[in-house]
Amino acid sequence: MTCKGICIRYKAIRPTTGVGRYFSGQKRCQICEIFIKWGGFCCPCCGYKLRSKPKKLKYKNKLREKMQLQVQSIPILN
Ligand SMILES: [Zn+2]
Ligand SMILES: [Zn+2]
Repeated sequence: MTCKGICIRYKAIRPTTGVGRYFSGQKRCQICEIFIKWGGFCCPCCGYKLRSKPKKLKYKNKLREKMQLQVQSIPILN
């Protein structure tokens, strides 16, 4: 699975601020390393399965919140 350069034709334009790429129907190809506007499940260029949802974004946010809480709860030793 390699990039054949076809994906450039489907390259997605960066959406206006406040709207996520995945939300606006854009999909990410890991092989071509590009965001494309494409209705299919697989990349029209390399044929690799496209990612249409952000990976574990909720989990990451939760983890960050937890870490911030831990930092805040540590008493200052001075
Ligand atoms: Zn490609
Ligand atoms: Zn691709």
